[in-house]
This record gives sequence, structure tokens and C-alpha cells, in this order.
Amino acid sequence: MARFSAWAVAKNALSGNRNWTSQWRKPDPKPSYDVIIIGGGGHGLATAFYLAKEHGIHNVAVVEKGWIGGGNVGRNTTIVRSNYELRPNALFYEHSLKLWEGLSQVLNYNVMFSQRGVLYLAHSPGELDAHATRGNAMRLHGIDAELLDRDAVARFVPQLDMSDHTRFPIVGGLLQPRAGTARHDAIAWGYARAADQLGIDILENCEVTGFLKKGDTVTGIQTTRGDISAPKIGVAVAGSTSEVLRKAGVDNLPIESHVLQAFVSEALKPVLNTVVIGAGGHFYMSQSDKGGLVYGGELDKYNSYAQRGNLPIVEDVHTMMLALCPQFAKLRLLRHWGGIMDMSMDGSPIITKGPLPGLYLNAGWCYGGFKATPASGWCFAHTIANDAPHALNAPFTLDRFNTGYTIDEGGSGPFPRLQ
Ligand SMILES: Cc1cc2nc3c(=O)[nH]c(=O)nc-3n(C[C@H](O)[C@H](O)[C@H](O)COP(=O)(O)OP(=O)(O)OC[C@H]3O[C@@H](n4cnc5c(N)ncnc54)[C@H](O)[C@@H]3O)c2cc1C
Repeated sequence: MARFSAWAVAKNALSGNRNWTSQWRKPDPKPSYDVIIIGGGGHGLATAFYLAKEHGIHNVAVVEKGWIGGGNVGRNTTIVRSNYELRPNALFYEHSLKLWEGLSQVLNYNVMFSQRGVLYLAHSPGELDAHATRGNAMRLHGIDAELLDRDAVARFVPQLDMSDHTRFPIVGGLLQPRAGTARHDAIAWGYARAADQLGIDILENCEVTGFLKKGDTVTGIQTTRGDISAPKIGVAVAGSTSEVLRKAGVDNLPIESHVLQAFVSEALKPVLNTVVIGAGGHFYMSQSDKGGLVYGGELDKYNSYAQRGNLPIVEDVHTMMLALCPQFAKLRLLRHWGGIMDMSMDGSPIITKGPLPGLYLNAGWCYGGFKATPASGWCFAHTIANDAPHALNAPFTLDRFNTGYTIDEGGSGPFPRLQ
């Protein structure tokens, strides 16, 4: 398969871009593999890639019920950051950010990672204090963070309404300059292409319908394209985690599925040079390279497996947007959609061996799994290859919900809708 380069782009442009080859093979399933990864989202594909690249395990299948990029990896608002306060999350997400920084070169695929900064607004002195605490914790972990006062926020994002009479007056903010955005589809396609080049079979339109078991031990999967066996099976199906593991007889996971919506406006000339998060709730907004504003808000707050959302959240999100930037009221909404979030009970992920012999679990990504994609795949591959977690994902056990060692970053207790 051709490598991407300036020369290849120029050569193909001259022939009307008709000679690009397909980016990954479409193989038939083999009867058995060394490892099966269920879920061809960002996390499943990254896991397969790092299994081959870091651990020399190439006899791997990624089993995807739909098409590559059809799940949350292609539905998110593309924010990448590592501005966490609690040590396990801070170290894990910073490892991810460092992988992002070299990812286009490693994959030979432009993932359009743009370190334009992520700014958390503070709307009260108390919130600014909380941001200062978080920023200090980040710096103690070696992560970049800058506390901005009101004037610095106004200079950094001139589009914000800085008047005192707004619904959410802005008193300052916490900036992570190395954070930013990436192209979500490119992550799916880049990892798929790179994994395929290392010999991984990507099996699309192949839904897992059941598990093959000997006693409690999982030995394979039943799929719409036949049975496939493997001694190690990783599950990375994000919002479908509970549904898929129920087929293996596991029905007590500390995960709820909720809808989260995303919105894209019509295209504008460049107006927003960073990612802004704030408005008294969980509103976030950036501008894509195509010019559309990309933004979102809270969960729909009821359990669902539907990849579409409800109208009150549409109103809610736009209310928050206009509170920050009233001039965007004239914009037209171009597209919006929903994705299914795998909300864990403490807002932190699970990357672990189990819950049954032969199984490995990657789940609980809540709002934040896109930015985690490289580190999640890297740590999950390590866990599967070594039958033990890496130090970075050792705290992200399933058992922590039994022992009480939860990682409650939001400080909101065991309520996924509040994370
Ligand atoms: C609207 C929205 C905005 C978001 N914004 C951000 C953000 O700004 N930053 C951030 O970091 N995160 C964000 N996220 C979260 C992030 O997108 C997810 O946490 C992450 O993509 C989940 O991992 P994944 O890519 O592997 O999931 P997916 O892409 O959903 O992959 C899981 C795959 O499993 C497949 N599957 C399911 N069941 C089966 C089965 N039975 N057999 C075979 N395959 C199966 C699905 O088809 C799917 O392709 C957002 C999510 C949404 C929905």
C-alpha cells in the first residue's frame, strides 16, 4: 500500500485522484486468531495497532458490527486535553496527549491534531479558585496549565461577551495550551490503515451475537459471519458494553448508556481560535478546519441506546452558546446527531483483565474517550499481551466499584448523569 507523502498527493492530483488504493483489506474471517478485539471504534483499532506494533502480536481480528468510523469515534466533538486533577487520570490522559503529539507521523496519516488550546471559563470567584487548584495539580504532574484573569480571557478569545450583565459573567479561566482538537474520522481511518498494514484483519459488517464458552472461560465469539475462536478476547464497544457483555452472561456492570448530542453550524470564516468550555454547565465549542462551529453540552440524562437526542437539550445547548457569544444567534444549525456514551459510576474508565477468564474489558469512557484513544489502545494492548495492566491503567480496575477505591474526578458520587 502506498505511503502518504507530498509526492503521492501531487501525483494523484494530476490523475484526478482516481488511483488511490483502498486503505485497508476486506478479508474473510479466519476460524481462529491469537486475539479478537470486539469493536472497530478508535479504541478497538488502536488496541489492535499497538498489539502488533509494541508486542509483536499480529494474528489479530477487529470485529465491527457496522463500518469503521460509524460509532462514537466518528460522532464526537474532537476535543483532546489532559487537564485532570486526580493523579490516575492526569498521568493517563497526559500519556495520551503525548501520543497524540506524534501520531500523524507514527500512523503516516494526517490526524489533523491542532494544539490550539482548551480554555475552561470561570463564572465566579469560587469557580476560579477550583480552576487554580486543578491547574496547580496539573503542573505538579508536569502538565501545562495557565490561570488567566478576566482581561487575559478577553484578549485570548475576543468573541466572548465579557460584559457584567450576561447570564454567566466571565471572571477568568484555566487554559491548557497544548490541548486542542483532531479530526475524528482520521483517527479511525489512520489506525485502521496502520493496523491493516501490520497484518491485522478488520472484519466489518460482522456483529457479535454471542460468546463461545467452556464453563466460565470465554473461548470465542459467535458472529453474523460465523464462529471465531481465540484465547484472548478484548471488548471495546463503548456505548454497547452492557449489551455485548450481557451476551456473555455478565449483567452487573457499573456502566449506564446515555445519549450525548453534537452540533455543527454552517461554515464561517475563522472566528474562534481555541476550544472554549463553560457557561455554568458543560458547554464546549470550537471551530473546525472546514469553518463550522462544532459544539455540544450535557447528556440527555436518561438511559438509551438510540443514536439520536431530544429537543430540550437542543434548546439548552444553544441557550448556553448564546449566553457566551450572542453574535452567533444569526448562525444556522447545519447538522446534529447523538452517540451512546458508556458512563461509568465514577466518571473514570475501566481497562482491565476480566470480568470472565479469556475476556478483557475497555469501557466507561463517558464524555472523554476520544482524547483517550491512543493511550487507551496502548494500555489495553499492554494488558492483553502481558495479562497484567501497565502502571498507567492499573488504577482503572472493575473491582474498584466493589472495594470503594473509585476515581471520582467530578466529585459527584456514583451518578453517571452528573459526571
Ligand atoms: C456527541 C459526542 C461528543 C463527544 N465529544 C468528545 C470530545 O470532545 N472529546 C473526547 O475525548 N470524547 C468525546 N466523546 C466521547 C468519545 O467519542 C467516545 O468516548 C469514544 O469514541 C468511545 O470509544 P470508541 O471510539 O472505541 O467507540 P465507538 O466508535 O463507538 O466504537 C465502538 C464500536 O463497537 C461496535 N459494536 C457495538 N456492538 C457490537 C457488536 N455486538 N459486535 C461488533 N461490534 C460492535 C460499534 O458499532 C462501534 O463501532 C464524545 C462522544 C459523543 C457521542
